[in-house]
Amino acid sequence: MYKPIDDVTATPKTVFAEAGGSSLGLAPLRGEESVDAVVIGGGFVGCSAALHIAERGMRVVLLEANEIGWGSAGRNVGQVAPRATKFEPETVLKIYGPVYGARLNDAGAGAPDFVTDLADRYDIDITVVRSGILTAAHTPAAAETLRQRTEYWQRLKVPVEFLTRREASEVIGSDDYHGAMIDRRGIAINPLAFVRGLALAAISQGAVLYERTRMTGLTRVGEEWRVATDEGALKAQHVLLCTNAYTDDAWPGLKKTVIPVRGYQIWSKPLSKADRGRILRGISAMVDTRRLLSGMRLHPDGRLQFSGGLGLGREIEPELAKRLGQIQAIFPDIGLIEAEGWWSGWVTRGISDGWRLHRLAPGLLTAIACNGRGVAMGAIMGRELARHVCGVPAEDLIIALTRPRQIPGFAFHKSVAALALRFWGWKDRREIRQATKLVERTSERPAA
Ligand SMILES: Cc1cc2nc3c(=O)[nH]c(=O)nc-3n(C[C@H](O)[C@H](O)[C@H](O)COP(=O)(O)OP(=O)(O)OC[C@H]3O[C@@H](n4cnc5c(N)ncnc54)[C@H](O)[C@@H]3O)c2cc1C
Repeated sequence: MYKPIDDVTATPKTVFAEAGGSSLGLAPLRGEESVDAVVIGGGFVGCSAALHIAERGMRVVLLEANEIGWGSAGRNVGQVAPRATKFEPETVLKIYGPVYGARLNDAGAGAPDFVTDLADRYDIDITVVRSGILTAAHTPAAAETLRQRTEYWQRLKVPVEFLTRREASEVIGSDDYHGAMIDRRGIAINPLAFVRGLALAAISQGAVLYERTRMTGLTRVGEEWRVATDEGALKAQHVLLCTNAYTDDAWPGLKKTVIPVRGYQIWSKPLSKADRGRILRGISAMVDTRRLLSGMRLHPDGRLQFSGGLGLGREIEPELAKRLGQIQAIFPDIGLIEAEGWWSGWVTRGISDGWRLHRLAPGLLTAIACNGRGVAMGAIMGRELARHVCGVPAEDLIIALTRPRQIPGFAFHKSVAALALRFWGWKDRREIRQATKLVERTSERPAA
């Protein structure tokens, strides 16, 4: 069966490549070494874990099967929402419990600051856009929910605003949405620059990083782990598996705890100067409330980045004409939107769709099951793994160290996920059709 780690090995050209620095060009591991900790995976979690372990003076080695940032870390949208998961805080409390849930909510609220503080500390140029993240409602019911959420957050003195249909239309530059919420704490960054910067920071603190080095085996030898690779091996007391959606078979059963879903991104040629001023005015990024979430970013050079659909198998060219048509329909008042490029990467759906820290065996930990809040929360989870390796008790971590739970009926996950994607897509389209009809019936053009 096709696995995310089977994707082509070149790091894709994305809209972030030009400003994202160059590949680090690190050598593969050859020979045998003994260290305190081995980190597997060079994404946000792995690089942050290596950095935070090295900062405490321990000997740490990171192995990346491809290049630093090759996984989702170099393939995402770069939105940093002030949220740990896609859930509302009270749901987080239910899923993680009152103590850990409260810590996770706090960590989520501070996520943008965590990223910018780390970038400042290590002089990483992540091109921060600080205007806030807008969530647009695809139906009147979703707008009402956003309005209530805004009031809830405002009572907690959080800088959020609700936009009526007319206001949302002015900011977004489209009449397709029924209201919106802006959270001014949200930022957008260059995620490739961030992950590469974390890797360089880790190296500056004494961590040793190897690229083109896949862990091929993991065995317990006495009190230590032996990590095997094609051309070498490492021995360590601690091993951190930071491979998230790209988790392979190296640890039995771990990959069955998440369902990988491929997300496509498309970016356009620069829009004209006039058109840039007409859409997504004064916001860092936008998502909408559909089940098959759609996101957009207008980059400072006028290139529009937007979701290009989801998949479950091998990478194929997204339906560019269809996707461009959909975007053009959202923004009918601007000139022709032409695609410049596309890429894809994998996210995970877990049992409860939020980060999990697991103790798989003595000295063997993982952070996995991220539902899309991986830029900041991945780096935070990496720091948490590092804290535990460096002696912080499990009960003081942001979330509990739990045992992994395999997804029931995992063998059928692809068929079930395919059905779910089709069903959610159908529901989204149906709701949008109903909402459009409602607006037409009441001939309610955007009204305050
Ligand atoms: C299209 C898309 C859009 C997204 N948008 C956002 C967004 O806007 N904001 C946000 O916060 N999150 C977003 N995400 C999610 C975010 O990118 C991920 O949650 C995050 O990158 C996960 O980081 P990670 O370090 O856990 O894993 P990854 O970055 O995926 O890194 C895992 C690494 O492990 C390596 N690996 C796997 N197996 C082995 C092995 N055996 N040996 C050595 N190395 C191995 C892989 O090569 C890979 O590089 C998005 C994701 C996608 C795909």
